Amino acid sequence: MADLADIAAVETETADVVIIGGGPVGSALVLALQRTGWRIVLLEARTAATIDARPLALSYGTRLILERLGVWPALAAKATPIRHIHVSQQGGFGRAGLEAAEAGLPELGYVIDYAALARELVRATTEASAADCRMGARVAAWHGGDPARVDYEMAGVQRTLTASLVVVADGSGVADADIVDYQQCAVTARVVSERPHNNTAYERFTPHGPLALLPDGTGWALVWTTSPTRAQMLCELDAQQFLAELRAEFGSRVGDFTAVSGRASYPLRLRRAPQASPDHTVLIGNAAQTLHPVAGQGFNLGLRDAWELAEHALNDAAAPGSAAWLKAYHARRNIDRGGGIGMTHALVQLFSNDLPPLRIARGLGLTLLGCVPPLKNFLVRRMTFGARG
Ligand SMILES: Cc1cc2nc3c(=O)[nH]c(=O)nc-3n(C[C@H](O)[C@H](O)[C@H](O)COP(=O)(O)OP(=O)(O)OC[C@H]3O[C@@H](n4cnc5c(N)ncnc54)[C@H](O)[C@@H]3O)c2cc1C
Repeated sequence: MADLADIAAVETETADVVIIGGGPVGSALVLALQRTGWRIVLLEARTAATIDARPLALSYGTRLILERLGVWPALAAKATPIRHIHVSQQGGFGRAGLEAAEAGLPELGYVIDYAALARELVRATTEASAADCRMGARVAAWHGGDPARVDYEMAGVQRTLTASLVVVADGSGVADADIVDYQQCAVTARVVSERPHNNTAYERFTPHGPLALLPDGTGWALVWTTSPTRAQMLCELDAQQFLAELRAEFGSRVGDFTAVSGRASYPLRLRRAPQASPDHTVLIGNAAQTLHPVAGQGFNLGLRDAWELAEHALNDAAAPGSAAWLKAYHARRNIDRGGGIGMTHALVQLFSNDLPPLRIARGLGLTLLGCVPPLKNFLVRRMTFGARG
């Protein structure tokens, strides 16, 4: 029988890197860090695969990263390419069309559901030889210091890990984050229409918030932003009533809507963690910044956080997690992160209202975007590759 000293030795371990959260961003980081040869432990609270089916629009730049991580071939079969994007505003003039070919890209992006993306990343992560991925490991607290410390519970046992670097990718981050509550919810669903999508995505701005219709398999993935009260009502309506509401909001551009399934609602807020985190800790993905889905940037930005962190680790393997090391990482991410947060927040502010001067300004902006190719290309490259576009 083990004595108390043995038990304590087993339950307090040391790793080079501990990653808190095995969502898409934390899992991608495990894969990206493989080349460092570091001892990596990933702690994920879930015990089973997620069933969250929110649709995600992945940029072409994200595809390139997923290719380098070796997971794109399996994901490609589940993803629907976006080749054209049509942007308009309800009750106002102005529209713009973005084309993959015009931007010199094979595709503008891809639509996949969160669960399919997460499943594939988890599968690849669990197969990654150097990584120690622990499911059912719920972190209770993490503390900066040299080394940093993580307290977690697994199979009813309290455990502690210490590491040179703790990466927080748990989707929620820290209590002292800046929060803007948009007073909006996103209703997601799968819908079918009379006309095929031809790989076109529609973004329609309404006074209550944007409505996106994304090509998804043989039908559409819907992301419909509206007030919390209306979102609840939309989730409770029967299918025919829901489709009638959708018809009234979106119009008949894709013919009549004939079926809906899998409705869910998500409250929307901007959450931005302070850039400086305690010693030997760093936040990435939604833990660092949670964005409104208006421009489909959250995961794309979070994946670049993970990729750039791994690149930084490969370029500067000495003293990971030290103040100078973290400062250099933040400097590397500053512009992309600030740009992603700023653009998303500005779009929500500018488009989620019905003020006549703003409606005219939006119409002029969309018309200009539609007619000025360099402006279009700038926007497409920015949304595809982030600040490096
Ligand atoms: C409706 C909607 C539509 C969206 N559309 C898009 C889009 O089109 N394009 C896009 O790029 N982004 C989109 N996003 C954003 C995208 O979903 C997020 O940016 C992405 O999920 C962030 O991934 P993450 O791994 O950082 O966090 P999460 O997905 O939140 O994963 C966090 C993980 O940490 C685990 N965890 C939490 N707490 C603990 C703990 N205490 N201990 C251990 N593990 C823990 C969780 O179980 C989870 O697995 C959308 C979001 C919404 C709500």
